[in-house]
Amino acid sequence: MDIHYQILVIGGGTAGIMTASSLLKKNSKLNIGIIEPSQTHWYQPAWTLVGGGTYNFDKTKRSMQSVIPKNATWIKDRVVSVDPVQNSVVTKSNKKYTYDYLIVAPGLKLDTSLVEGLPKSIDKGVVCSNYTNPNHTWNVIKNFKGGVALFTQPPKPYKCGGAPQKIMYLADDYFAKNGVKKNTKVVYASASDSIFEVSEIAKTLMKVIDRKGIGIKFNHELKKIESDKQIAWFKVSAGYIEHNPVELDILQENELIGIRYDMLHLVPPNTPPDFIKNSVLSDSTGWMDVDQYTLQHKEYPNIFGLGDVTNVPTSKTGASIRKQAPVVVNNILELITSQKLGTTKYDGYSSCPFITGYGKMVLAEFDYTKKFIPDPKLKKMWIKDSSKEHWRLWILKKYILPYLYWNKLLKGKEV
Ligand SMILES: Cc1cc2nc3c(=O)[nH]c(=O)nc-3n(C[C@H](O)[C@H](O)[C@H](O)COP(=O)(O)OP(=O)(O)OC[C@H]3O[C@@H](n4cnc5c(N)ncnc54)[C@H](O)[C@@H]3O)c2cc1C
Repeated sequence: MDIHYQILVIGGGTAGIMTASSLLKKNSKLNIGIIEPSQTHWYQPAWTLVGGGTYNFDKTKRSMQSVIPKNATWIKDRVVSVDPVQNSVVTKSNKKYTYDYLIVAPGLKLDTSLVEGLPKSIDKGVVCSNYTNPNHTWNVIKNFKGGVALFTQPPKPYKCGGAPQKIMYLADDYFAKNGVKKNTKVVYASASDSIFEVSEIAKTLMKVIDRKGIGIKFNHELKKIESDKQIAWFKVSAGYIEHNPVELDILQENELIGIRYDMLHLVPPNTPPDFIKNSVLSDSTGWMDVDQYTLQHKEYPNIFGLGDVTNVPTSKTGASIRKQAPVVVNNILELITSQKLGTTKYDGYSSCPFITGYGKMVLAEFDYTKKFIPDPKLKKMWIKDSSKEHWRLWILKKYILPYLYWNKLLKGKEV
């Protein structure tokens, strides 16, 4: 027999747990099931600090059991398909669950197969990624003895707009402190054509880049890795821009440009989960198709999506989920009681904590318009201008935000 839940949540990550906890905080009688296969819940925003050797990886994880809200049922399984007409989902163990409301929050997929040579080279030797194994990143940085330190940024969308470059600033700082910098060239090869889309923040970051003497190659998309020869191959698109040119050993093969490296930090292509991409819930790009203000699915009114899986045009971050969860909660509670959507809207808020070195940070906060909108609460921390580097922002990132995450946000409290 099918098992029915009033509200079914797919995914027990940041979005799934924040939303389920908040719903139950407002109404403890709701009948909520959370389908989540993993035994571990991760706080990924601290992985940049782990990769920079300044945070313990073990402190970024907790058992899934400990974060599942008390009045919810944890279904230890993986969703393989959704049938929005029948209001049902099927799991890997071939069980069927039905729902009144569905919250889709399975995050995204890191697809290494999209870069030739990546599956066999990732997290081995001098190839590392904070997205897959930040402990390995720290080993690579710690053991780097000079040469070309190459950092890459994939095409959008990918999670945490700033993560590909934050680790570079920490690495550069570490190289400077340990005497390696004088025989090192730090290079950033980005698929994008600018350093960041919020102009106030971009201005500060370009100053950081100039101060550190980092060479930037825009419009470079990583396509292939030859890890035995330590060469990364890029497709370079029209309008290629270079900033702070550094002399490099550049190769050419058909349409690809190769750069020799002595260490390589990369971000595997970020794609929608297969069961979303292959379902009627996705748009033509494969991401879950929701209204960007209400987070309600565009076709199926009893389905909501939030977190990395959706197609909302903003940076995919935990910070954005902090603002998305209350909208989904309000909408579902209103639909239950009055069959109407709630009035709160999501404005595209997201934030990127740009660590620019040990003890320094810039905080990019913005909405759909990409306008810089710093939180007025920062003034209470004596931070006058968060678009500039500040040590207090580093304290926020390293100590305050993890505390708020585990003790407030995951427990359904708004901060
Ligand atoms: C290196 C790095 C640095 C970052 N830095 C920051 C930062 O500084 N600030 C910030 O705000 N954000 C940052 N982020 C981004 C942030 O961590 C993510 O945006 C956030 O975790 C997304 O939450 P989510 O719930 O959508 O996905 P996740 O937290 O990834 O959770 C998805 C969950 O769904 C489960 N799942 C997957 N498939 C299925 C399925 N088929 N059925 C059931 N369950 C499934 C998974 O097991 C997982 O538990 C960073 C991320 C990385 C990798």
